[in-house]
Amino acid sequence: MARIIVLGAALGGLQTALLLAQDGHQVTVLERDPQPPPSDAEPAWSRWPRPGIAQLRQTHLPLARWLQLAEAHLPDLVREMTAAGAVRLNVLAPEPAFRGPPTAGDERFDTLAARRSLLESVATRVAEGAGIRIGRDTVCRGLRSSPGPRTSYGGASGDRVPLVTGVETEAGGATADLVVDCTGRRSQLPSWLRDIGVPCPVDESGRRGFTYYSQYFRSADGAMPTDRFPLVVEHGSLGLLRIPADHGTYSVCLIGRSDDRQLRRALRNERAWSAAVRLFPGADSWLDGQPVTDGIQIMAGLTDRKRPLYDSQRPLVAGLVAVGDAWAITTPTVGRGLAMSLQHSLLLRDALRQTGTAHPVELVTRFAEATRDGLGRIYEQTAAHTRHRLAEMDAHTAGIPYRNPDWSRAKALALLARRDTDALRAERAAAHLLPGAREALRAPALADAVTRLLPEVEQHMPPGPSRADLLKAIEG
Ligand SMILES: Cc1cc2nc3c(=O)[nH]c(=O)nc-3n(C[C@H](O)[C@H](O)[C@H](O)COP(=O)(O)OP(=O)(O)OC[C@H]3O[C@@H](n4cnc5c(N)ncnc54)[C@H](O)[C@@H]3O)c2cc1C
Repeated sequence: MARIIVLGAALGGLQTALLLAQDGHQVTVLERDPQPPPSDAEPAWSRWPRPGIAQLRQTHLPLARWLQLAEAHLPDLVREMTAAGAVRLNVLAPEPAFRGPPTAGDERFDTLAARRSLLESVATRVAEGAGIRIGRDTVCRGLRSSPGPRTSYGGASGDRVPLVTGVETEAGGATADLVVDCTGRRSQLPSWLRDIGVPCPVDESGRRGFTYYSQYFRSADGAMPTDRFPLVVEHGSLGLLRIPADHGTYSVCLIGRSDDRQLRRALRNERAWSAAVRLFPGADSWLDGQPVTDGIQIMAGLTDRKRPLYDSQRPLVAGLVAVGDAWAITTPTVGRGLAMSLQHSLLLRDALRQTGTAHPVELVTRFAEATRDGLGRIYEQTAAHTRHRLAEMDAHTAGIPYRNPDWSRAKALALLARRDTDALRAERAAAHLLPGAREALRAPALADAVTRLLPEVEQHMPPGPSRADLLKAIEG
């Protein structure tokens, strides 16, 4: 069994550590932030200093796929999260288009709704309970390496792939058979690699992104507003998320383009923010709760970025892998980060089962291939969604329609899903990355129904404010 260092003790790193420890590996987690999470939900939310997770107090909801994977592979984690107050939420149930009762199989749309701080607090407790050592206040500053084994990659027999043999921290160094970077969206991996002479991996980032303007509330009676509500509305140049969470809390989040200066100036102001939320039909009652965040929480630059550690022919480095956001971040508007991260950890676990660490080049090659096959398409599809949505927002701001055949089909499917429960199931299954969803979308009857709606899509945007109404409300 291998000695493994996992960098980063947030959910991604802790899930990875748990999965690898279950297989008997000796896992140590190193975390830059000093404070462990309080075990109770309220202090974890209001008093836990956690600069390492910038998005801790931002709107979060894991996909249903995350819950499926977690129940199958980390059942203790799900049980403890539920016991701590995470709410089982069926993502079909609140949708206005959903006409019940639920049918057999609808439970695959369940997920766990909770503030991210609760998920973190429980994951820490479960990891420590499993005997995983978490070294806090330990900032990784770089990598230890050796020239690595000779390989015959790309036909160039005798080439060496540099081998990472451990990490350097402010407290000294540590050696490992494998280093797993789970340091998230702000991972310093490119500069660590440069320092050991490995060319910086290509950063395939989308240049533009979204900004979240969010607030969490607590309802007076501990219940959600009872009207049906779509969890996500993408309308014109603004989007709205309404996401239930634990202990009677929920979040309301406006989404704009990061380069939309008019919104950026206005939406940090609570009056303007509330006025913009009210423009979405049915959103009024969501403002009745007691705020539990300190004003509007803003996070900008939310986009897609991927860092492959494998060029077209061979791995850039062995003894090191990047998992979750350290490998690829996706725009949070589609909520895929936690599900992709857990799936990625499982791919690593399986690659380790098949190859072990005795053959480090084979291990990273196998993992890179599994990543490409298992998550590459999801990443590309998410990045395409971001590009289309940003273009649609631009067009709406300029007062012109955005026309693109792929986007029109996606919009026609969304329109159908607002009218028909089975189409809603198919559309949500794809959005939640559920197995079999792609095949369901290709079913001829559904594909024909989508095609028939294409002429209508321009006239049937989800309900929301026009640009003129929006500017009047937030600037008034
Ligand atoms: C605004 C926003 C909203 C989101 N909403 C959703 C959602 O609804 N659903 C969803 O599934 N996903 C969502 N995501 C994505 C999700 O937050 C990420 O996918 C997830 O946080 C990845 O977890 P992680 O553990 O890989 O990284 P992170 O959560 O970023 O954690 C990184 C960890 O590494 C530590 N660290 C950093 N540098 C070092 C270092 N040098 N040495 C040691 N430790 C270090 C940090 O302190 C931290 O603990 C959202 C993201 C954002 C930004």
